[in-house]
This record gives sequence, C-alpha cells and structure tokens, in this order.
Amino acid sequence: MSSDPWSSLESEILNCTKCRLHAHRRRAVPGEGNRKSAVVFIGEAPGEKEDEQGRPFVGPAGKLLTELIESMGYRREDFYITNVVKCRPPENRDPEDDEIEACLPYLLRQLDLIKPKLVVCLGRHSARSIFKLAGLKWTSMTSQHGRVYAAKLFGYGVKIIATYHPAAALYNPQLKGALEEDFKKSIKSAISEILEHKPAKKTLLDYATG
Ligand code: URA
Ligand code: SF4
Repeated sequence: MSSDPWSSLESEILNCTKCRLHAHRRRAVPGEGNRKSAVVFIGEAPGEKEDEQGRPFVGPAGKLLTELIESMGYRREDFYITNVVKCRPPENRDPEDDEIEACLPYLLRQLDLIKPKLVVCLGRHSARSIFKLAGLKWTSMTSQHGRVYAAKLFGYGVKIIATYHPAAALYNPQLKGALEEDFKKSIKSAISEILEHKPAKKTLLDYATG
C-alpha cells in the first residue's frame, strides 16, 4: 500500500497539468471539509480568492455559501466542499467542456472515497456534470432547482439536488431568493433526514444518559 488515497489525490491535483487551466493558476483547489460527511457541495471552479488561498468558496460567493449553511444550523466544516474544475479559469470565464472532462476523474475519486448520500450541485455547470454522471436528465436550473433526485453513483444510492450558484445570486436578488428557499426547504430537509442517525447525535445521547 502506498500513502493514503486522499494525500495522493490532493498532490496529484496540486501538480496537475492535464488541461490548459494549469498554466494560469496560482494554486489548484482540491476541496476541503469533512471527508466522512454524508453531504457534499460541488461548485463550478475556483475564483480569485480561492486561487490565492488554495481553498474552495472563500471569496464573496463563499461567504454567501457559508451563511446559507449556517442558516440551516450547520457549519461548513460539517460537509465536504469542492468544485467540478479544480483550477481557476482566467477572468473567471466558464469552464470549457474539455476542461471539465479532464478534471472530472478527480471529482469521481473524491466521491468514491466519500460515498455521500447527498450531493448538492451549485450552479448549472456542476449540475450538468453530476446529472450526466448519475444518468439523470438535465434540462435547466429554472425547472430543476430545489428538486430532490434519487440516483445511483458507483452503484450506491444518492440524492442529488441542484440549486443556483451563490455567485450568480450575488448579482440577482431573484436568484438569491430562490437559492435561499432551496436551502431552507429541500436541502435542509434532505440533510436532516440523512444526518438523523449520525454518530455525533448518538454520542451526545450516550453521554447525556450514561
Ligand atoms: N465559485 C465556485 O464555483 N467555486 C468556488 O470555490 C468559489 C466560487
Ligand atoms: Fe488538472 Fe483539473 Fe487543474 Fe485542469 S483544472 S489542470 S485537469 S486539476
């Protein structure tokens, strides 16, 4: 056995040159958070702050994501947070199809290690890629955001919810309303359903009773 799968995966990402985005990045952003979480949030690609710090969702969109997570009564460290594309596209342009395709194997390995029960896709690039992976039909965010889809990833059952990208919501109050609503309703109830039997609660109960 070589080193643990997470460290080799992260160092591969940090040194990756598989697509043109490697030439523009300061740091690749593998992802962070609770690797044992049943819930994973997947964004699009790192922005300026993420590229500077090597961490996902630490700029303005990240501040909004963190607030949305906290509004449900959780902390961002409770979950694993990553992106479809691990390096920042120049000028924050949309990632191109061949860049997504080159980078996707890293996300697949992350999902295979985590085996989440819920995947929350932030934005249409994330949603499009994940829906395709799961064999689900993707049409549009307008018609599909906030809906809970049951699917299979690597043969295990998973729920998938797509919602608007926090960065888009920052510039469009209407999208922000829809994003907040998705977090308040379907995302929150899917998470609490899944975490109901989480060990942390049991531990607390054991401690309280014994
Ligand atoms: N937007 C994303 O999609 N991901 C980040 O990590 C930051 C902003
Ligand atoms: Fe490699 Fe992904 Fe970065 Fe492209 S975006 S260089 S595939 S880590």
